[in-house]
Amino acid sequence: MTQPRTTADWQALGRQHLLAPFSDYKQLGAKGARIIQRADGVYLWDSEGRKILDAMAGLWCVNVGYGRRELADATHRQMLELPYYNLFFQTAHPPAIELAAAIAEIAPAGMRHVFFAGSGSEANDTVLRLVRHYWAIKDQPQKKVIIGRINGYHGSTVAGASLGGMKAMHGQGDLPIPGIEHIAQPYWYGEGGAMDPQAFGEWAAEELEKKILEVGEERVAAFIAEPIQGAGGVIIPPQSYWPRVRKILARYDILFVADEVICGFGRTGEWFGSQYYGLEPDLMPIAKGLTSGYLPMGGVIVRDHVAQTLAEGGEFYHGYTYSGHPVAAAVALENIRILREEKIVERVKAETAPYLQKRWQELADHPLVGEARGLGMLGALELVQDKKSRTRFPGGIGMRCREHCFANGLIMRAVGDTMIVSPPLVIDREEIDALIGLVRTCLDATARELAG
Ligand SMILES: *Cc1c(COP(=O)(O)O)cnc(C)c1O
Repeated sequence: MTQPRTTADWQALGRQHLLAPFSDYKQLGAKGARIIQRADGVYLWDSEGRKILDAMAGLWCVNVGYGRRELADATHRQMLELPYYNLFFQTAHPPAIELAAAIAEIAPAGMRHVFFAGSGSEANDTVLRLVRHYWAIKDQPQKKVIIGRINGYHGSTVAGASLGGMKAMHGQGDLPIPGIEHIAQPYWYGEGGAMDPQAFGEWAAEELEKKILEVGEERVAAFIAEPIQGAGGVIIPPQSYWPRVRKILARYDILFVADEVICGFGRTGEWFGSQYYGLEPDLMPIAKGLTSGYLPMGGVIVRDHVAQTLAEGGEFYHGYTYSGHPVAAAVALENIRILREEKIVERVKAETAPYLQKRWQELADHPLVGEARGLGMLGALELVQDKKSRTRFPGGIGMRCREHCFANGLIMRAVGDTMIVSPPLVIDREEIDALIGLVRTCLDATARELAG
């Protein structure tokens, strides 16, 4: 009989064979990975049997929570019926068609077509190919430049990382690729200085117009942005930002791409972040909450005029082997059914998000917290040494705080010294109370460590 593997066995085997995404290999080699073994609801259990409240919903994706048997059953049924077929060369299958129709029902009015991909990054590769193809069909092939934002996140493929504005990512592998420009982000707490938040929001919006004029409208294909920046640190723009951006977009003939990979499927209390902010995007990349992470899937929802233009353009030489994968599509359909029938998005808006936000604000009185902000099922805490001047701790303390979270049974993410949460949308009041209690415990532990 072989012994079941221990945590140390998994860690050693991982070290020998597994190359982990977004990990410092030296650090990981020294410490070994935390092994997550099972999950239910909003909780995870690690290989030592410790229960952990997952305040990040995996990576912002497990919207309906863990352990939903309906999603496992949908997978099983579809695997037996048709485990794989593709959408290439004039074929299709029922799950992809049904899913596209279901997405059209919940998407903003006038957005009724979907191109499927395998992930959010692939969705943004599709965005890049699609917007350039769109302008070529319209006899303006010189409209190629896409404007993104510094510290935006649009994935980790070459196009995704290039559209995104993460400095560290650009530093590896000569990114961004040509034809992509970046403007300032609307991050008032971190970059607004002495400016009033609303004035800062307008300034950041006007950076878009400046860039359009600098590049030349005749060369700009699109502007891409997350309604709320997720991976950048839950950056919620000042209220003045989106209305001003909308006014600018109305003046120029360029496409607007709202990256809904995090905001989509209920995170803000609306189905899409664009609905929360009253945006009218031409394209919306989606992923994450589309399947609640149970299977990988992404896509791009497009406005009718984009679909019409594509219809005039002959063959679009683009697609993925797994575009519209039938099993992923079946899971996405079931996930959307759960979100609708259990009125999860409505409950987020009416009950649980207001409750989370009310309790989240209580954390602002903690000595380490310079700002507590949040919206929907998103929250951020800015950790500072001095609240008044917003001065950070030398060397940073986010990673230390994150260690205390792990040690106390909470998953909270650190983006520099911004601590962020994005819990499953099904989290209830009691679990929100538990979350807030754990966050306070971890902040206290961090403060004690700093006091020495
Ligand atoms: C996560 C994310 C992506 C990339 O999605 P993957 O599925 O990891 O490729 C793209 N855009 C946004 C806004 C994201 O948060």
